[in-house]
Amino acid sequence: MNAAPDSIRIAGIVRESIVDGRGLRFVVFGQGCPHRCPGCHNPQTHDFEGGRWVPIRQIAQEIRKNPLLQGVTFSGGEPFCQISAFAELARQVRALPGRLDLTVYSGYTYEQLLALPGASELLALCDYLVDGPFLLAERDLSLRFRGSRNQRYLDLNRSRLAGRPVPVPEQPPLSPRSYARGASLTGIQAHRS
Ligand code: SF4
Repeated sequence: MNAAPDSIRIAGIVRESIVDGRGLRFVVFGQGCPHRCPGCHNPQTHDFEGGRWVPIRQIAQEIRKNPLLQGVTFSGGEPFCQISAFAELARQVRALPGRLDLTVYSGYTYEQLLALPGASELLALCDYLVDGPFLLAERDLSLRFRGSRNQRYLDLNRSRLAGRPVPVPEQPPLSPRSYARGASLTGIQAHRS
């Protein structure tokens, strides 16, 4: 059995976000993405040699410092290009006091992830998935937590029980104005444009 990785290659961290899943969230942007979606807001996250290596334990300790967090989001880049590292971070978040929920973004669809070797290690630790590539032709600023209409916001716990992808029930769409206000908190928005 391989030892769990102790570091992860990241493009950046946003310590408090309200646009990357429900509630106040700590967001880890992985470095490296193979999808190259036209219109991607963060092409600097694509290079697998870019970003920086950070100890996973250091990220978990930072998360622990903020008692106001509802959850942690793994974004990118493509988190499923670093399955073992994000899975180790997920396990360390799970071991923290309280119950932070875990949301993961991916340019792969849920169905593709089910077939991707090793992806189940990370999928099984997460509560929500925003799936699919950003498609410029389907861009919609009113969508909650997504950039284009093809992307789905899935409840992974319900999906596992049902044996099919189960979307989180829709809520009233955000106005472009409120979206823009939230976006300014993060300064980085992979998977969206
Ligand atoms: S939108 Fe997301 S999946 Fe697409 S290229 Fe950008 S980081 Fe990769």
